[in-house]
Amino acid sequence: MLKMLVKNQLLSLKAYEPGKTVEEIKNTYGLKNIVKLASNENPYGCSKKVSEALANFSAEYALYPDGAAGRLRERVAKHVDVDPKALIFGSGLDEVIQIISRSLLTPQSNIVMAAPSFSQYKLHAVIEGAEVREVPTVDGYHDLESMLKRVDPNTKIVWLCNPNNPTGTYVNGTSLKSFLQRVPQDTLVVLDEAYYEYVTASDYPNTLPLLAEYDNLMILRTFSKAYGLAGFRVGYGIGSPDLIQLLEVTRLPFNTNRLGQTAAVAALDDEAFLQHCVRKNKNGLDAFTAFCNKNHLGFYPSQANFIFLKTDQANSLFELLLQKGFIIRPFPNGVRITIGKEEDNRQLLLSLQDILDHESRHLLSS
Ligand SMILES: *Cc1c(COP(=O)(O)O)cnc(C)c1O
Repeated sequence: MLKMLVKNQLLSLKAYEPGKTVEEIKNTYGLKNIVKLASNENPYGCSKKVSEALANFSAEYALYPDGAAGRLRERVAKHVDVDPKALIFGSGLDEVIQIISRSLLTPQSNIVMAAPSFSQYKLHAVIEGAEVREVPTVDGYHDLESMLKRVDPNTKIVWLCNPNNPTGTYVNGTSLKSFLQRVPQDTLVVLDEAYYEYVTASDYPNTLPLLAEYDNLMILRTFSKAYGLAGFRVGYGIGSPDLIQLLEVTRLPFNTNRLGQTAAVAALDDEAFLQHCVRKNKNGLDAFTAFCNKNHLGFYPSQANFIFLKTDQANSLFELLLQKGFIIRPFPNGVRITIGKEEDNRQLLLSLQDILDHESRHLLSS
């Protein structure tokens, strides 16, 4: 039996299922236009500086990329003001999560994470045979006190997704500092800040200075969300150079490619584009929030580029919005909707209004 060949835990997992393509959905539902609001991609694309940099790209396709991502490393080090040795790059943040899991986890260990939170933390822990301790969020927020109680001497990683995907909520600076003071020094706390650039809350923690205080802390960032480079697959971790050096053993030698490295460097040179996207996103979030409040819909306050709408009919709401031309992401207790362009947001709210005004109102109650 081939099943006997693979690690037992693979049998309890499913391979990542990409959603239907836009083309498939257009054909199935006979729609001309589809707006994809399912993966938190940047609806404004990326900076023009990226296309310019790629147009000048020297086409030495036969050569391997710089495995150390030297230019990107220098540029990011300057951007976040850390030692270049404090950085590790991945083919997307997804790969950095895999590298950390592969490097730290064994069947004797466990991880502590929120639920719901980003699915990859759990996936890699299960593959490594580690125990997964999921602590339910409270009103969409990390329950830090309960998470602390689940930490024991075998806890290798505590994952904090800040802001949290899919709920959009955040851990503030005071709570985070008090949490870090109480986590044992031999447990790694990983702060996944994939949506960092979108945050506007004034008490959101500035975590970079905390790295000097805690060498069991790592911060994760990505070019996939606000920088609009999801197609290039570039993300990075920031941590103690000693830890990074150890993680580097697990990293594949040429994991980030030359195009991605070039695109990411160029993206960092366009702060104006980034701020433009952040402003537009905030307007979209505000409009969505106002709509939910006006209609007494259950939702979580979001600091990211998506919003979580509570419903116990997530799959039906997903199907209905699909028929109206919107792809969103269903979860067990609600749906996550990416904030799109102004006109798309407006059309989406009209569709939701239409659902509320008609027989399908029950789809939006929780
Ligand atoms: C999107 C996302 C990632 C992965 O991003 P990539 O860099 O595209 O791999 C990681 N963590 C969270 C919370 C995300 O939402």
